Amino acid sequence: MPDRLEAAIGTSATLEIDLDAVAANWRDLRARAAPADCAAVVKADGYGLGAAEIARRLQAEGCTWFFVAHLEEGLALRRVLAPQCRVVVLNGLLPGTADAYLAADLLPALNDRGQIGLWSEAARAAGRRLGAVIHLDTGMNRLGLDAAEAAALAEDPAAFEGIVPLLWISHLVTAEAPTHPLNAIQLDRFRAALARLPRAPASLANSSGIFLGPDYAFDLVRPGAALYGVNPQPERANPLRPTVRLTGKILQLRHVDTHWTVGYGAQWQAPRPSRIATVGVGYADGYLRSLGNRGVVAIDGRRVPIVGRVSMDLITIDVTDIPESRCAPGQSVELIGPAVPVDEIAALAGTIGYELLTDLGPRYRRRYIGSVA
Ligand SMILES: *Cc1c(COP(=O)(O)O)cnc(C)c1O
Repeated sequence: MPDRLEAAIGTSATLEIDLDAVAANWRDLRARAAPADCAAVVKADGYGLGAAEIARRLQAEGCTWFFVAHLEEGLALRRVLAPQCRVVVLNGLLPGTADAYLAADLLPALNDRGQIGLWSEAARAAGRRLGAVIHLDTGMNRLGLDAAEAAALAEDPAAFEGIVPLLWISHLVTAEAPTHPLNAIQLDRFRAALARLPRAPASLANSSGIFLGPDYAFDLVRPGAALYGVNPQPERANPLRPTVRLTGKILQLRHVDTHWTVGYGAQWQAPRPSRIATVGVGYADGYLRSLGNRGVVAIDGRRVPIVGRVSMDLITIDVTDIPESRCAPGQSVELIGPAVPVDEIAALAGTIGYELLTDLGPRYRRRYIGSVA
């Protein structure tokens, strides 16, 4: 359908994803981490923005390592990536899934001795050596080999029967807080473990970890959120480009008198005679309900408050101070974008940019800007 026609139909919101900006962010992060290589974390459908489109574009930029959370996500990614790209499934190897990994040429992150054993068995059954990504837990206490398991592994070369370690990974707990002592503790633990284990490239830093300095870069960095424009250093200005613009349309305008209320629960009362615009987006679209009476949108770059609750399909905004010509039905309203950054809207909602992005539902019309590959 031609763009013009598509833009004209319907009342639903539009999610624009700027692949050029994602690519620029990836190049920026890679330059900061150099000489380390830079992967792309595209779990949860590329943080809600479309894993296939993003991975294809970053592959064209030269990215060769991709990380997802689930086997199913890896299978989908394999269909769009060249065979030389490596796809790592962070949630690991569950019993009975080795054949699926092998058939699709996916790498499970091996998260405990049991998983290393399963992979070794799979290598024996396949009659060839298998590459492996092994996750060392240095403080998250969530996934990966704990210190005792890693020490036992270091003493037991037979555990690697049939396995070629390709990458040792660990994951930072507090990278977005650069002065937190746990960063340096995890760095020390990771180095100590690596010194005892078979030599292979290593990877520690997520988005925020890239900003902790060269000690944290090792051979490969693994940004997710920063690729998509989420600020990796909450205390400082965001060095990355916004990648998302979410816009809704004004459906209707009305006047309310002083003391009238707007929306469910009568949670907003007009302090003056007001002009209210109703916009066709709501919590069923992933526009968080906690933004009721707190959120802000933008019309032509001017910020406008959300008044009343967020409904399933609608929000109401106070446009009393916006010229009437700029808030007619059909007028586009920016919900997330350059004038209303993802981190700010997330903070107003009481959450983080990661959750806001991954909540953006399938209901939006999606439009990709910039070439896919
Ligand atoms: C999600 C994830 C990342 C990416 O983290 P960001 O903070 O989004 O950059 C990296 N490594 C692992 C193990 C992850 O789970």
